[in-house]
Amino acid sequence: MALLQIAEPGQSAKPHQRKFAVGIDLGTTHSLVATVRSGRAETLPNSLGGHLLPSVVRYRLDELPQVGSKALQHVVDDAPNTIMSVKRLMGRGLQDVTRLGESMPYVFEACEDGMPMLHTTAGLKSPVQVSADILRVLAQRGEASLGGELVGAVITVPAYFDDAQRQATKDAATLAGIQVLRLLNEPTAAAVAYGLDNEKQGTIAVFDLGGGTFDISVLRMQKGVFQVLSTGGDSALGGDDFDHAIADWVCQQRDIVNLNLSQQRFLLRQARTAKEALSQVSATDLSFAGWPGVSCPLDVELDREKLNSLLDPIIAKALRATKKTLRDAGLGVAEVDQVVMVGGSTRAIRVQERVAELFDKPPLTSIDPDRVVALGAARQADVLVGNQAGEEMLLLDVLPLSLGLETMGGLVEKVIDRNTPIPVARAQDFTTYQDGQTAMVVHVLQGERDLVQDCRSLSRFELRGIPPMAAGAAKIRVTFQVDADGLLEVSARELASGVAATIQVKPSYGLSENQIADMIKASWSNVAEDRGARSLREQQVEADRLLEAIAVAMQADGERLLTTVEQQTIVTQMEALIVARGGDDHHAITKQIDVLAKATDEFASRRMDDSIKRALAGKAVDNI
Ligand code: ADP
Ligand code: MG
Repeated sequence: MALLQIAEPGQSAKPHQRKFAVGIDLGTTHSLVATVRSGRAETLPNSLGGHLLPSVVRYRLDELPQVGSKALQHVVDDAPNTIMSVKRLMGRGLQDVTRLGESMPYVFEACEDGMPMLHTTAGLKSPVQVSADILRVLAQRGEASLGGELVGAVITVPAYFDDAQRQATKDAATLAGIQVLRLLNEPTAAAVAYGLDNEKQGTIAVFDLGGGTFDISVLRMQKGVFQVLSTGGDSALGGDDFDHAIADWVCQQRDIVNLNLSQQRFLLRQARTAKEALSQVSATDLSFAGWPGVSCPLDVELDREKLNSLLDPIIAKALRATKKTLRDAGLGVAEVDQVVMVGGSTRAIRVQERVAELFDKPPLTSIDPDRVVALGAARQADVLVGNQAGEEMLLLDVLPLSLGLETMGGLVEKVIDRNTPIPVARAQDFTTYQDGQTAMVVHVLQGERDLVQDCRSLSRFELRGIPPMAAGAAKIRVTFQVDADGLLEVSARELASGVAATIQVKPSYGLSENQIADMIKASWSNVAEDRGARSLREQQVEADRLLEAIAVAMQADGERLLTTVEQQTIVTQMEALIVARGGDDHHAITKQIDVLAKATDEFASRRMDDSIKRALAGKAVDNI
């Protein structure tokens, strides 16, 4: 008879039952998957030991698509079916894509729902489907190396990605059967990778020059808390542009004109190989052996000096965007303590030199610039699935573009400014324009310009059933809520009657106005029931704001200006608010907010008196 097994006290039968979560860097050129094992973040290889998965998918008739290196081999001989740089097409409308597509060898077609599709031998494929095929391979790789099912993934996106592009990325993950724990800005992920390794304080610029995108982010780091002060960059600038510059120069050297697609790709590949080699050697040859379809012209020699002159104008663009982003954060170059380099193109020596010149200090390159984003994402994933009990990491991302509403005269009223930390909720009150007006169009826009026509239209919905009143008498509160992934929900409520409407701003992928209207109608039906839930959210946000402000004030002046008993009273009321905030009764929260505000009245006026006294005494006034 078999003996029953009993585990040792304090040890469960499966002592290493951890939740497997991965970080995924879904790049324009390469993608990576990483995880945290035994406290260390590491990227995961495929069965052949390669870590970088080329972001390339080749579709075939009646066969599964090839993904990665296998697909990459057919970039020249099967160009129309071999999809590269699909990240540039994510969340774009047909118009954007056609413009971008001029330099791409694909055939695009609008599909029923307006999403642009690519013609392949295996049928029409959307950019979301292509990305899903890449993600699926990464998830499988994760499961194979971890030996278990994934609970979820943190997927990184460029800081510049708008709502539609973020949603498209999420959709791709869902299609691939991956649970998205969080979308994370790539530069923030890089800062996580560096910041947790060396606990430095200060201001950091993350310079991410990849294959197709340039992102610059300015972060403030303080004891494990990162705050993104500003983000900027160029969603169409990167190593691909270096390759094109080199290829164009080669064509000039050899009077080459009218290349067909395969030849273009061949030449670009040669250019890229030469460029990459030049970060090791000082000169190299571009060889045309194997030049498809024609007898090969002579080799062209490219040296570092020539390369520098070709790269400089492109790097200059990145540096201009960098300076602008620093200005956005209200900082000068000298105030940046460290510069983190991310992305394969920062291996180019010229890029490192120019960045060092701008900041007057050498940039950080100690973590592999190809892997740093995936490693940071893996750390964040590990935290989000609760594998790091007690270790709290607070990540404050910012909104890349302002969000606002259309007001009379085709003007945009900003409700949340760009670079506001997310998640965030903001409300603003609007009113009616005409006597007896009973409905109002809420038109949600994204962008920095003042006129509606210059901003991107995200969504439009109507608030109906406003009781007829004189113009300007109705009070309509519009609330914008952006979640941690940067996705937006907008609600509008007439305060007297309580009529309300909410819309989840589903990005439109270039949908027509009519299609958008249909989508919106569908979301109206269950609007009224959400009212209570919304009030609750609003009160919770209010409670958080108050608690935070009081905590800061107590920290600064509590001991100096209050007796022990007074301090204790405030703390007790704060605790009561925290309890109320955790419940689901928004009236209870409102009530406790009032109680706490009263309890701190006296403290507030003492702080005011105190700072005035100090000002009169000619001392520096902090913390007014
Ligand atoms: P993405 O995140 O956009 O996918 P990556 O960060 O993977 O891009 O960077 C890919 C780019 O880096 C390509 O343009 C590639 O040519 C370039 N690159 C890689 N190694 C080097 C090198 N040694 N010197 C210059 N550029 C390089
Ligand atoms: Mg990248």
